[in-house]
Amino acid sequence: LGTALRSAVQRMGMGSVITQKDIERTLREIRVALLEADVALPVIKAFLGRVQEQALGKNIVRSLRPDQVISKIVYDETLALVNNAPVQWAKNSCILAVGLQGSGKTTLCGKLAFMFQTQKISTLLVSLDPYRPAAQTQLTVLGHSIGVDVLSVVPGEDVYTTAKRALTYKSSYEHVIFDTAGRLHVDTALMQELTELQNILRAKEVLLVCDSLIGQSITEVIKAFSQFPLTGIALSKLDANHKAGVILSLKSLLNLPIKILGTGEKPQDFMLWDAKRIVNRILDQGDLTELVEKTTQALSKETQAQQLQRLRQGIFTLDDLILQMNALQKMGGLSSLLKLIPGMGTVLESLQNKDTSFKKEKAILSSMTPKERKDPKILDASRKRRVAKGSGTTVQDINQLLTRFGNIKKILGNLPNKR
Ligand code: GDP
Ligand code: MG
Repeated sequence: LGTALRSAVQRMGMGSVITQKDIERTLREIRVALLEADVALPVIKAFLGRVQEQALGKNIVRSLRPDQVISKIVYDETLALVNNAPVQWAKNSCILAVGLQGSGKTTLCGKLAFMFQTQKISTLLVSLDPYRPAAQTQLTVLGHSIGVDVLSVVPGEDVYTTAKRALTYKSSYEHVIFDTAGRLHVDTALMQELTELQNILRAKEVLLVCDSLIGQSITEVIKAFSQFPLTGIALSKLDANHKAGVILSLKSLLNLPIKILGTGEKPQDFMLWDAKRIVNRILDQGDLTELVEKTTQALSKETQAQQLQRLRQGIFTLDDLILQMNALQKMGGLSSLLKLIPGMGTVLESLQNKDTSFKKEKAILSSMTPKERKDPKILDASRKRRVAKGSGTTVQDINQLLTRFGNIKKILGNLPNKR
């Protein structure tokens, strides 16, 4: 998904204002990328609507390139969508795992028990799935493998009796985790049984276990289970699915926290929810995140706006030059706002030489007095010699820097749209 998004926004080009056409083309491409990542259709529509709304409002930030702006909007929207409060588990409570057959409920119960076990929180595992022959044995074996207590199995006992029997042990454990039966498809019998069980258990935590490979049929499952008082989502098999779009669908269609993610078959294969990590995974985007961070860090929006305004008025001092060098250095390459000013790209490139850290230039500038930086004309031969000595450079280096600075000022002075 990340790659597709990235190329979509990169094609937006370098103009300084986002046009409706830019946005439309980009949104079309993002739409395809989201579809390919298995995000549910209604979710895609809403998501793109929000991105478009924001992108159109973003014309004001002229100091950023459109592709940067859109990348940041997509990132922020994704993060906003998946943001959760930090994961917490109700104390002294029952936890109920529900979901379709094969979604990973039993495995999830093992992961939770394992997690509590490592935190020295006493836990009892209970199987409420007497229908599938091996289901109860599966949970018992799992529990014993991690050293967690499992409620004994009474052959022929119905689920409601088992549930009540389990509750008699509630005071001896901090958590009682209930594994339930699933069906291949959502049906009313299953929902009825779960509702009745919840009436008995009054579990404070009801987790919908969802297979991340579920694809577009997710809307159906969500529709059925959202009638049930869920408190959170557990997403399984994230290791088997590189299309993390299901996360966007779940978060968007069910207004619930995703609490835990299954990343393998073993009890220790899980991760608790971490929105930033998830967004990076969804956008699979080392680069995109980096770009966004660089852009945000390099200059705060306000400084950017102020600077740009000064530049447009033709005000540019050696102190401004230092600011610009710092910005260039942080962003790497010529992404600074100076580049948005016609003709500045080449000047800056020449200024930059091969040294992207501007070591020499910064040494020279910091050896000048504030007065000299404000008015470089007062730099006579003796002052230049002093600066050269202080910065470990030569008078020739200083003259070169001043010539380039003069060129920048000349270009700024000739700007057509001084405002
Ligand atoms: P249930 O029917 O909902 O109880 O599903 P199970 O817990 O029995 O899981 C069904 C299958 O999915 C089993 O083969 C599990 O080993 C496998 N499984 C469950 N969670 C994960 C996971 O996070 N990653 C992987 N790779 N397999 C999983
Ligand atoms: Mg099971």
